[in-house]
Amino acid sequence: MFLFAALPPPVPPPALHAHMAFLADDLLEGRGTGTRGYEIAARYVEASLASSGLEVVRQEVPFRRIDLDEAASRVELIRASGTTVLVPGRDYVMTGAAEPKLDIEGSVEKLLQLSTEKDSDWDVIERSIRGMPSFTPSNGAWIALEASNAIRQDPPQRVHIVKTSRITEVTSPNVIGVLRGSDPKLREEYVVVSAHLDHLGIGKAVDGDAIYNGAIDNASGVAALLELARAMVDRKPRRSILFIAFTAEEPGDLGSAYFVAHPTVPKNAIVADINIDGGSVWPYQALIGRGAEKSTLGKAVEAAGKKVVPDPFPEKFTSSDQHSFAEAGIPAILLTSQRTAEARPLALAWLKSRYHAPSDDMSQPIDFAAAAEFVRDLLLIVESVANDERRAEWVR
Ligand SMILES: [Zn+2]
Repeated sequence: MFLFAALPPPVPPPALHAHMAFLADDLLEGRGTGTRGYEIAARYVEASLASSGLEVVRQEVPFRRIDLDEAASRVELIRASGTTVLVPGRDYVMTGAAEPKLDIEGSVEKLLQLSTEKDSDWDVIERSIRGMPSFTPSNGAWIALEASNAIRQDPPQRVHIVKTSRITEVTSPNVIGVLRGSDPKLREEYVVVSAHLDHLGIGKAVDGDAIYNGAIDNASGVAALLELARAMVDRKPRRSILFIAFTAEEPGDLGSAYFVAHPTVPKNAIVADINIDGGSVWPYQALIGRGAEKSTLGKAVEAAGKKVVPDPFPEKFTSSDQHSFAEAGIPAILLTSQRTAEARPLALAWLKSRYHAPSDDMSQPIDFAAAAEFVRDLLLIVESVANDERRAEWVR
């Protein structure tokens, strides 16, 4: 059986370091969708895939980039007792609308997304949205916890929102590396391995730094993808494999949604998506297949020969590019891991202070040996899906 074919050679940790250091460099300015920094990152991915011997396909994705002029916009609460003008940043954040000048009134339910104690990570919401372009128009606003509580206590009759937006047509590519399968029949089917290449770009400065480098999110995943592609060439998988670096994941999985709507190979020939959003950059003790229970891909995760544990956050299945594939009916998982007891505090501290912040850069603790071990696990999993006589199926 294929699982007992020669074990793959180890993945070199310095190669992962080199990819991440390039992609997360300040020169790339946070790889925002449709920016020059993203374009440089895309060229780098093309060069790396080509140098591994893959055929490279570039899929340009059209977007409408929307920039809100915050100073020329406002949110007001209209009550019988008077009008309250909310303070941007402190009380609310919002993104731009479909038209350059939007002036609307509506109910709280229609226009405002109130915070609750439970989901009140306002710092993350504020720094991920404020001052950044968006790619899907919105009429509403997110409200901070304190302002949300005030609104619940004394609901306004109407909400008045004015938005001034600048709308620009841009394109940004998905980069696809094609590795042809070795089996004359199965090579007509494709396994997708994906990782998003975009991050948030330049935004609000935190401690004097405004570049959201996205080192772990997701230069680490792209580094894993590139080394996986390099290692897979010699493994001669039976099915063909598409290694895809997606654009516009951060604004809502838009690059992957475009790909499944306009696939570069027949859609029914795509057997699965295995997605990476964050390489495993700290020591781990078990693998997690997010969405594994939904399809036979769950069994493939066991091919790595590691302990596999249930996903502590199954609701997060919808929050990265694997979701676009699942929506299109293609079995999909996100591969992630459970840290060792010693590494767990690192992961928790990262979520609290570095996730979607300028400090997700190369100066943080990253264990490249653990990252390399994760790529090797991925390789065995992808290989088992690519070589299995039967294609992956949904189980429910
Ligand atoms: Zn991500």
